[in-house]
Amino acid sequence: MDFDLTQDQREIQALTRDFARAEIEPNASAWDRDHHFPRELFGKLAEIGLMGACVPEEYGGAGVDFLYNAILIEEQGRAIASGPAFSLHNDIVVPYLLHYGNEEQKKRWIPKACSGELITAIAMTEPGTGSDLQSVRTSAVMDGNHWVINGSKTFISNGQLADLVIVVAKTDPKLGAKGTSLIAVETTTEGFKRGRNLEKIGMKAQDTSELFFDNVRVPADNLLGGPGMGFVQLMQQLPQERLVIAIQAIAAIEAAMEHTVAYVKERKAFGKSIIDFQNTRFKLAELKTKAQVARVFVDDCIARHLKGELDVATAAMAKYFATDLQCELIDECLQFFGGYGYMWEYPIARLYADARVQKIYGGTNEIMKELIGRTL
Ligand SMILES: Cc1cc2nc3c(=O)[nH]c(=O)nc-3n(C[C@H](O)[C@H](O)[C@H](O)COP(=O)(O)OP(=O)(O)OC[C@H]3O[C@@H](n4cnc5c(N)ncnc54)[C@H](O)[C@@H]3O)c2cc1C
Repeated sequence: MDFDLTQDQREIQALTRDFARAEIEPNASAWDRDHHFPRELFGKLAEIGLMGACVPEEYGGAGVDFLYNAILIEEQGRAIASGPAFSLHNDIVVPYLLHYGNEEQKKRWIPKACSGELITAIAMTEPGTGSDLQSVRTSAVMDGNHWVINGSKTFISNGQLADLVIVVAKTDPKLGAKGTSLIAVETTTEGFKRGRNLEKIGMKAQDTSELFFDNVRVPADNLLGGPGMGFVQLMQQLPQERLVIAIQAIAAIEAAMEHTVAYVKERKAFGKSIIDFQNTRFKLAELKTKAQVARVFVDDCIARHLKGELDVATAAMAKYFATDLQCELIDECLQFFGGYGYMWEYPIARLYADARVQKIYGGTNEIMKELIGRTL
């Protein structure tokens, strides 16, 4: 990123890059092949202080700002390792605990989330509804001093590994969005079951699962914030999730450019390097320009977010623009690899497979355009 990083941020960037090069990059392709990565990786990241870095020190974090997490997202992207969902845990789920949890909840869960002992997930999507979150059917009914949860979720990242899942449930179905609440469920609770680890086109090492709730009883205090606050809480946190996806897109775009430029300089056809064809230079010049435009915009969004000024529509623009470009650019880059681009052992093939979902999760790009459209 083109920020004027402080000395400390530069050191963290170097530390993160070393970690990615040593622990992630050499293994990423094998994790994809095995559809699995080791859970211990969360603990290793915690050892270097990068799990829950934005969490205040009193709850076990480093008390730094989002720029540190953005550095981690970029370095992981550069290593082409989509398996470990660090960012989902750090940037998406832990903030719900931090912003809406009471003191007792924060002390119970956040320190373990920062040490890598407790892995988190958020379960919004259901087999019958994804984009239309108001139609969630999972229910939570008060019985004595417990919520009793019934329903099922699908496509949940970290679903197999998670120790704690934040469940989006209807606590008052008559009220629609206003009857939606967030309830934390420990995955050891009776009645909670994990379904399949779903087989995907890309992000093969990442764990994406179905989850089932059959009369799952959790204490009343597992509710985050007040009853009926869930929809507002989701709307407040989704801009950061969308910014994270945009940053991941930029990292993937830059990794694709780097691999492609190296390849076209090396590979020969008709007695010259592929880069010596004007078509190659023109096409890569166009892609580099688009990549730079997207980088500047996303960096600006990071700067706005650091000041607490990133609004819903601008985050939606960043998510849709960066991920559309990610898919377009990686497809064009892969073409320069010829048949080798289609082979799994080439990083460009993994980048291609991983890119597609970016236009779908975190709110589809069509929903992003709806959000932008509402501001016109
Ligand atoms: C790998 C992966 C990981 C995921 N991780 C998580 C997770 O951790 N937690 C979680 O809760 N969910 C997760 N999801 C789910 C993801 O957020 C949803 O798939 C996504 O929001 C879309 O919902 P859907 O699949 O139900 O599609 P649908 O909502 O059925 O949409 C189908 C199509 O209709 C379009 N559409 C829908 N509504 C409109 C509209 N109003 N205007 C125009 N077009 C519209 C959509 O854009 C899409 O093209 C994950 C998904 C994947 C694939």
